[in-house]
Amino acid sequence: MSRRLHCRSVLTPEGWLEETALVLDDAGMIRSLAPGPARYGDERLAGAVIPGMPNLHSHGFQRLVAGLGGQRARGDSFWSWRDAMYRVAARVGPEDLQACMAGLYLELLRGGYTSNAEFHYLHHDPAGAAYDDPAELAARVSAAAGAVGVGLTLLPVLYCRSGFGAEGVTEGQRRFHNTPERYAELLSRCRALTGADRLQRTGVAPHSLRAVNGDDLAALLTLRDAGEPVHIHVAEQPAEVAACLQHLGARPTAWLLENAPVDEHWCLVHATHLDEQELADGAGSGAVAGLCPTTEADLGDGVFRATAWLERGGRFGVGSDSNLRVDAAEELRSLEFSQRLRDGARNLLAPEGGGNGRALWEAAAEGGAQALGQPVGRLAPGRRADLLVLDQDHPMLAGLEGDDLLHAFVFAGDRDMIGGAWVAGEQRLDRGRHPTGDAIASAYHRVLRALRT
Ligand SMILES: [Zn+2]
Repeated sequence: MSRRLHCRSVLTPEGWLEETALVLDDAGMIRSLAPGPARYGDERLAGAVIPGMPNLHSHGFQRLVAGLGGQRARGDSFWSWRDAMYRVAARVGPEDLQACMAGLYLELLRGGYTSNAEFHYLHHDPAGAAYDDPAELAARVSAAAGAVGVGLTLLPVLYCRSGFGAEGVTEGQRRFHNTPERYAELLSRCRALTGADRLQRTGVAPHSLRAVNGDDLAALLTLRDAGEPVHIHVAEQPAEVAACLQHLGARPTAWLLENAPVDEHWCLVHATHLDEQELADGAGSGAVAGLCPTTEADLGDGVFRATAWLERGGRFGVGSDSNLRVDAAEELRSLEFSQRLRDGARNLLAPEGGGNGRALWEAAAEGGAQALGQPVGRLAPGRRADLLVLDQDHPMLAGLEGDDLLHAFVFAGDRDMIGGAWVAGEQRLDRGRHPTGDAIASAYHRVLRALRT
């Protein structure tokens, strides 16, 4: 059996096509693109259809601290924010986590993200003791994504140490801590969980070179199945770069590129502080830079060298990270604006003569798909029909078509412009409404009220 989603206008790798049907198989994969007017029985998508955005980096529970911590204190920094976040992390139970994750994934879907990579490091109970099932909390993440009906790349995180040269972790990190041996059990449980849902898969995630030393990393990589994504935080903060130089004799990205088999399956999350050699070697590795511009701005991380990265052929995608903001267009706009503020020029991340909004959306969708290891990011045969329909009745999109319309969505837009979202060919959102959204929202509100006070 095949189904047809007829698009008035759709963005494909060949550009914008008018009056074209996406022909889908039973699993929601695109078999072919068929030009021509709508036929009887077609589902009709009335707006401008673009690929859904894969979110390549999320810590879902951190949504609980979004917007908190606004009282200025001496020495506020990434590190003081992290202490505050640890205090909330210590209080989250399994049911709280599931409700929080489902509510967040619904918000992210409304913000244009049709799949998420969850960099999941909350593993144990509040005292740091293992649950009977080592994947108790990972199972909650998987169930939440299943309830909302979005794609998930579950990345169980290996977190062994509190910093370079340290043995073990601090009290605030005891819910995260695993040895490579315990991690092996967690990883195989995660594979079983995601193997039961065709929208889900598993990857591996050494937290950072701060939390995982060379031996830990080597042990983790022996556990990885061929082709599984590898995500790692790297070079987010100047203090991390300095500590790595002191302990390993190299900058973190340089050390990683020299000592690990970094290739197109890897996602280098943040990669904010890169020198010329790291830019060239990192871009040349085929790895995706995992950029999280609103979180990086909130935490004062620094400005990613996006223009230089793209000039060297580097790939990138975007993530919601701390989930301070849950809006794909806003991440792209923030990325471009950071470069404009630095360089005093406009439209810096588009090819010569190309549309800036479209260039950002297409590159991030493709890079995100690569990082998640999921067949999404483009509306083309062999890819999954994860898509957004932009509402051309929205006043700020009225009269616009093609690249101009997508540019207005990325730079002047908000979630009100997303008229619908489909995942694997199934409609999940209709003007912001989800089939089970009311129940998900009420459980989410309950947890937010309980844990944010
Ligand atoms: Zn992160």
